[in-house]
Amino acid sequence: MGAMKTDLRNITPDGCELRFSEIAEDLELTADGFDFPQPIEVELSAAKSGDEILMQGVVSTAVEMECARCLEIFEMDINPRIQFVIQLLDISEPQPSEDDDFVILPKTTGEYDISQRVREAILLELPLKPLCSETCKGLCPMCGVNLNEGECDCTPDKTDERWDSLKQLFDQ
Ligand SMILES: [Zn+2]
Ligand SMILES: [Zn+2]
Repeated sequence: MGAMKTDLRNITPDGCELRFSEIAEDLELTADGFDFPQPIEVELSAAKSGDEILMQGVVSTAVEMECARCLEIFEMDINPRIQFVIQLLDISEPQPSEDDDFVILPKTTGEYDISQRVREAILLELPLKPLCSETCKGLCPMCGVNLNEGECDCTPDKTDERWDSLKQLFDQ
């Protein structure tokens, strides 16, 4: 199984750049209705200050999904940012942190796996209602033609009020 492990012992006050690349399957990244055809790339910078390590960077990948209006499969790039602080304390076990931006670990910790944070950052970025385009015209509710590709014969007169209320129903 792939993981995105950072060696905390190598991080100095001068900071360093960390790069990771894993396919979604190895990162155990799954979401219903979404595919991840590209590797998950992470670029992080890490710097130590006293007993704290500041980690910040960006995740880049592409997500494939079905448009909620026209049902076409489309791909979109996503670039969620991640940022958190590791606090190294004189403790023997990792401790839960009330603030999600802080991770509390024993000073003796060698490696920290950022996979979970990367997965969460990606999942938060997935749209609730995917649209191939803000202006996607969707499917004709009567004949099912993709109205982005052309008009159909059943497109009613736009001034018809019954059509407007039907359209509102479909937009909801
Ligand atoms: Zn669409
Ligand atoms: Zn039609």
